[in-house]
This record gives sequence, structure tokens and C-alpha cells, in this order.
Amino acid sequence: MNDFKNSDTMIRATAADDTVRCMAAVTTATVAEAVARHQTSNTVAAALGRTLTGTLLLGSTLKELDRLTIQIVGDGDIGGITAETNAAGIVRGYVRNPDAEVPLKATGKFDVSGIIGQGMFYVMRESGYDLGLYREPYRGSVPITSGEIAEDFAYYMTQSEQIPSAVMLGVLMRANDGGERFVEAAGGVMIQIMPGASDKTIREIEEAVSRTPQTTTLIRAGAKPVDLLRTALGGMEFEVMEEREVRFACSCSYERAVSLISSIDRTELEAMLREDAGAKLTCHFCNETYCLNEATLENILRETVAA
Ligand code: ZN
Repeated sequence: MNDFKNSDTMIRATAADDTVRCMAAVTTATVAEAVARHQTSNTVAAALGRTLTGTLLLGSTLKELDRLTIQIVGDGDIGGITAETNAAGIVRGYVRNPDAEVPLKATGKFDVSGIIGQGMFYVMRESGYDLGLYREPYRGSVPITSGEIAEDFAYYMTQSEQIPSAVMLGVLMRANDGGERFVEAAGGVMIQIMPGASDKTIREIEEAVSRTPQTTTLIRAGAKPVDLLRTALGGMEFEVMEEREVRFACSCSYERAVSLISSIDRTELEAMLREDAGAKLTCHFCNETYCLNEATLENILRETVAA
């Protein structure tokens, strides 16, 4: 298990007699870890960071053994984004092409939709997978509507889960004096309108959301998740139900790489030994590379014979 130190948090809250459910997260360190691991372009950093944050927010109600996966598959240069989270607030994710890049929009913002393109937004909810108590997963999908990620999460929630939602996701990249770029702020807010919400409540939220500054502007000024919610909900009172730490981490390991290699075809193993004098595996999710040397491969081959 790769564990990374950071201090990101997410909260889950309710308002207006539980007819409004809302989540907010500060994910600066989480996104920074993902960007560093995958060595992404700036626009991919924004796309991946927004997706990781949206996935965490959507997964904020997950129970133990649950897993939520988001896949955005478009015809743009990024070639697709995958993100996965669990009840422990751990998220991991990757894009097919981390180098994809397009010029900034006229507004000075990253043209995320420019690298996503047209396609589909997929959601998969699984439970008990790691235990073998596997239930048929829930799958939902909607077409990509904007490609700017936040709007796509909102559209999915409204269309597929019938929960009208407002979603704000942001990633702010900066360069230091040496020209080295870094994630200065990242985070997001999701507001879900549950059945029974009054017209007045909906109107108040719409007005507050339309007035709210960019999430990253608030985070850069020191805002915590609770401050993000306070701003996004205007003057509406809310009750925080849960706060959890969130971070980027992956479940891959050298041991898992060995067991994966052990399960492949014997002739393929022999070819690896002959041609490459070893095996090299890179985890899609976290970009960690595991090198299995000659001796390890020979050992695996011997064990396969014994078995
Ligand atoms: Zn990994």
C-alpha cells in the first residue's frame, strides 16, 4: 500500500430538513500527488484533479466494502480518465494520455473540454468485491455534456440518479519563481436536491451557487470544506454529519505484482526471462513501476512446475 502524507479533508452535511445534501472537499495535496505521479500537462492536471475530486464527493456516502468508479471516455486527446474511491476517502486515478495539451481558453482557463471531447460518462458502484462477496455492480452512464467535468457530474446525478445537483470543481496550477509548476489549490462542492425540497430552498441555493466565487479562489485564501459549503449555500444553515480525511493512494504492491506475474502463461514467462531478463510492471492507477529480476522470474517458473 502506498501511503502519502497529506491533510486534505471532506465533509458531508445536510440542510433544509434533510431535503438538501451537500459535500465539500479540499483536495490540494491529493491532486498534487496525482499530478506528480502521472507527470501530467497542466490541462490534464485540471481534468484529472476535477475528476478525482468529483469522485470523492460522489463517494462521500460510501459504506465499508463499497467502491465507486468514474470513467470519462471521450474522443479527445486525453483518451479517457478513470478514478476510483472507497469509504476510507482514498482515491486513485489515471488518464490514458497524460501529455495531452491545448491552449488556454480566451478566459485564461484550462480548456478541459478541449482534451476530453465527445463521449460517455460512466459510473460503477460495487460492493464486497475484495471479499469475494461480489454483488452485481450498479452501472450508470450519460453522454458527456460539457466535458468540463463538474457539469458532467451534475448532469449524471440529475439524469441517471434523478437527484438534481449543483457541482463545482476546481484545480489551480501555479508556477514558482524557478518555473516549476505545482497545484496551488484544488477542491469542490456538490449540492444535491432531494425529493421534498421546497421551491424556496431550491431558489435560495441556485442564487447562492450563482454568486459563489471559484472554489480554488476560496481555498487559496485558506477556506476549509466547511467554509466552501457556507459560501455555496448562502445564508442557509446546515449540519455537518461527517468529516473524513481524503488522499491519493493505491492498493498495488511488489507482492501483488509478483502474484500477477505468477498467474500468467508459462510460455509468456519464459519469453520474458529470455528476452528481457526480467519483468517490469507499471500500475495504471499510480504509475508505480515494479521490477522483477531474473532470479524472481526463475523462482516463479520453478514454483509453477512444482504446482
Ligand atoms: Zn498502483
